[in-house]
Amino acid sequence: MPLPLVDLQAQYAAIKPEIDAAIQRVIGNTSFILGKEVSEFEKNFAAFCRAKHCVGLDSGTAALHLALLLCDVKLGDEVITTTHTFVATAESISVIGARPVLVDIDPRTYNLDPRAVERAITPRTRAIIPVHLYGQPAEMDPILEIARQHHVRVIEDAAQAHGAEYRGKRAGSMGDLACFSFFPSKNLGAYGDAGALVTNDDDLAARARLLRDHGRRDKYEHLVVGYGYRLDALQAAILGAKLTHLDAWNVRRRAIADYYTELLTNSKVVPPYVPPHISPVYHIYAIRSKTRDALKQHLKARGIETGIHYPIPLHLQPVYANLGYARGDFPNAEQAANEELSLPMYPELTDAHVGMIADAVKAFE
Ligand SMILES: *Cc1c(COP(=O)(O)O)cnc(C)c1O
Repeated sequence: MPLPLVDLQAQYAAIKPEIDAAIQRVIGNTSFILGKEVSEFEKNFAAFCRAKHCVGLDSGTAALHLALLLCDVKLGDEVITTTHTFVATAESISVIGARPVLVDIDPRTYNLDPRAVERAITPRTRAIIPVHLYGQPAEMDPILEIARQHHVRVIEDAAQAHGAEYRGKRAGSMGDLACFSFFPSKNLGAYGDAGALVTNDDDLAARARLLRDHGRRDKYEHLVVGYGYRLDALQAAILGAKLTHLDAWNVRRRAIADYYTELLTNSKVVPPYVPPHISPVYHIYAIRSKTRDALKQHLKARGIETGIHYPIPLHLQPVYANLGYARGDFPNAEQAANEELSLPMYPELTDAHVGMIADAVKAFE
């Protein structure tokens, strides 16, 4: 039987009665837009992040867009982020007419390098977007300190990091704002598109609520130009049912990762490096190999699906040719793009599967 990278059917099979009941509840009460399902989920997800507010949205991309608007990022401003991320991180900057200023990664953690962030600060910098890539929090203390010194905002891209911890603090509770995605394959995934903003700031949360729903105060009274970015009640009900399992799923992901790492230590591939003050949630389990493409083919021939996150860094993407970067500008990210390989990772993966996958990886050497 082939082993997929992610198995959403196994998850549904394990919690089917709860999911089906949540869907039936919403269809039964026909309260499809905002309402109790959404506010209950928001309350519970904020508590999960150990933050004050959660504002449910229709995607992680919408969360990034609103976060930048809430930080007053405008045409011609600069926002610093990593070149080694999913394109949505930078797109959100571009759609506002601001400039994504890309920086290289720390080669060990794949996360943006705080020293590179500091060097990239200019008088036009308005915000920094650290991405907690693969579910491992970025080095937040130095980033928050740089932001404090230069009076710029910090927006966490926590789309891959639901429940991850940095020095005991949860992803989403450290920046001015944090953006979560509930894309189906994320650690907490909806059955369609969904996302959220999380913040400890009362004013930012109130403004986010206005912006996501047409600037509406009352049904037909609109205070500001807003968007149709609401979290769907059906998705909120599904997410609420899944949220009760998320801590246990993340514990299982860590156990799987630890087992992979134990089996792959002293092999030819490089397992992930985790600093002692960080507790990741392994949205992705990333190894590196000098012969990545051949290893990928070798595993595929044995029925093991793998992924590449991400094959082209943002500074080399056709869409960002206009930013004027060149090959060689960010060598650590370029090397990661050539060497990274994501192994199957989902809570329902058994120890036997992990053993089989690790054996297959080692058999390639
Ligand atoms: C998934 C993801 C997003 C976008 O989220 P959507 O819900 O798909 O819009 C943004 N940033 C990162 C790092 C992601 O992994």
